[in-house]
Amino acid sequence: MEAEQDVSRAGRRSGGNNFALTELILSYANIVDEVSGFVKLKKVGNNYSGLCPFHSEKTPSFYVNESKGLYYCFGCGKGGNVIGFLKDIRGESFGEVVRYLKQKYNIPLEDTKYYKTNNSQKDEEPLKKILNLSLNFYYENLFVYLSNSRHIIKYLQERGIDENTAKEFKLGFAGQGNGLTKLLSNNKADLDTCANAGLLIRKSGPGNQYFDRFTNKLVIPIFDRNNEPIAFASRSVLQDSNGPKYINTNNSPIFIKSSTLFGLNKSLPFIKKENSVIVVEGYFDMIMLYSRGIKNVAATMGTALSKNHIIILSRLCDEIILLFDGDKAGINAINRGIELFQGFMDNSDKNIYAVTLSGGDDPDSFVRKYGKEKLIKLISDNKKSPIGFIIDYYMNNLSGETVKDDSGKNDEVLIKNNKKYGIIYNKDDINELKKKISILKDVAPFIKKIDNNIILSHYINLVANNLGLKEDIVRDYVSSKNISSAFADSKDESGFHIENYEKDLNIEDLVIAKLFYNLLLTDYINDDIINEFSDKDAIYIIKATKNTLEELRSSEEGGDFNQGNSGIIEEIISNTENKSKWSRIYYSISFSSGYKDKTTFEDERRDIKKLLIKLKIDNISKACGCLLDELKSGKLDESVRLLKFKELNKLKYLSKEFQKKICSF
Ligand SMILES: [Zn+2]
Repeated sequence: MEAEQDVSRAGRRSGGNNFALTELILSYANIVDEVSGFVKLKKVGNNYSGLCPFHSEKTPSFYVNESKGLYYCFGCGKGGNVIGFLKDIRGESFGEVVRYLKQKYNIPLEDTKYYKTNNSQKDEEPLKKILNLSLNFYYENLFVYLSNSRHIIKYLQERGIDENTAKEFKLGFAGQGNGLTKLLSNNKADLDTCANAGLLIRKSGPGNQYFDRFTNKLVIPIFDRNNEPIAFASRSVLQDSNGPKYINTNNSPIFIKSSTLFGLNKSLPFIKKENSVIVVEGYFDMIMLYSRGIKNVAATMGTALSKNHIIILSRLCDEIILLFDGDKAGINAINRGIELFQGFMDNSDKNIYAVTLSGGDDPDSFVRKYGKEKLIKLISDNKKSPIGFIIDYYMNNLSGETVKDDSGKNDEVLIKNNKKYGIIYNKDDINELKKKISILKDVAPFIKKIDNNIILSHYINLVANNLGLKEDIVRDYVSSKNISSAFADSKDESGFHIENYEKDLNIEDLVIAKLFYNLLLTDYINDDIINEFSDKDAIYIIKATKNTLEELRSSEEGGDFNQGNSGIIEEIISNTENKSKWSRIYYSISFSSGYKDKTTFEDERRDIKKLLIKLKIDNISKACGCLLDELKSGKLDESVRLLKFKELNKLKYLSKEFQKKICSF
């Protein structure tokens, strides 16, 4: 039977080495401290709560329980212990997180045996060595072997980057030839790994040949938050070179371009201190602002600013300022804005602003021309909320490009209707009207998103004035049903109340909930009672729990486990069909303060026995229902009828006995 196999598998996996290691780490690491690095937590009853870092929301549905060492989001269903949390939020492997926690909490892990055997760790260790070798190679090329790299240093100086700054950011130089290939080869690095990482080029032929990928290039290393190199960007310094300005090394197990922010390893403490971050689009923008004293800055790396970026940053501080280049600013804002601003519109309690630099400047050139103070002033004078930014963009385009002549039937109808009332347009007027309609169409979904009435009024007024339309017309248009909100799919998942969850559960769910609270209660569920269960998952959970406990008790460690041990339960839940349902129940019960008041084992035992009897009574009354239906149908022979009748009476008697039993508790 499939279920039987699963049961033993869950048991075996939970009892192994990982389990002991995880337990050791969890007994040292503090989940509230770790989560606080990314989420602003507030104490709520026995738990802490805050805005989920894994999905965007306005009302906290993310909970942390310090004593149980667990977190769970009732909005998106993500949950687990501190190791899982750090893995997901830092994008790191199990081994990396273990190493970080071991260091921070002085966890007495004797050897590195465990994380060496971890699979993904196995992939990452050589890669990290390769990246560190490359980092030193490029760096020494620039600053030690000066004769080859003078033009790079000159180039940097021209861009306003002095030697100290270049050294602080560990900038480097890739010269001519195949120096890196030789170095990596001499250090016995796997050259395929180097090629996959994008440091070398592999040319197949009779035996693979490898070459340096970057030659005669300025090299900008990209670090993770622990100052470990994870990738490189290279920039050609030749005036007449074609092709893209920057080339990155490849995405790898330790580098995902679209969710990495350049410079965060330097600026993190300043972002936290100032409770504000300025996001720019280029490496040099970041380096320049930082070196000129605007230190709370981070950069995307030639990719669109992603929701991930915003989520990462919004957990570090309350104010995010997106500083766009002067050119193409509006187009960027629109193209990137939709995803970006989702969930972060005016209603958010985070302050998100967009600022553009006029006159074709980027932040780098602006700071060089006008200095730090001017930029700070420009930002504070011109920062706009995303909604304001988008509306202004469309408004400014009012007098700009001509409108494409692709307006739909509605516009024709509008023009026709106006004719009916004697308003005749000449061709220019019609174009002007079409333009207005097209702008209103673009802007309406964004305005519709605002649910703060004052802000809504403000923008309706603004749009009406700018378009020369009556406010009522704009208001009607925005609220008409055809206009869907710009972000119709962003749900508000605030409706969860921890204390109320039980009333939605049936008896079988409740039994499992009690088990999750205290695994030892499985001892009171015998095989006979398991047969009363109808939910496949519930049966699996009970059997797997029993098995796991049995294994733990017979193992060398001698069954040394906590009540409601999270590792065991998560493992078991991961093998059920309806994982999200059981996770929700598990975390609900873990975070529920109501259970704190009756923690004696005797109470819990009584509760579960009552529930099991209720389950029996429930099943009996279902059986009685079936028998009654048969008896009423009148289709039965007299002899069968009599038998069924006897059976019914027996069941009724049994049910009464069980009822009495419940009352006796
Ligand atoms: Zn969530």
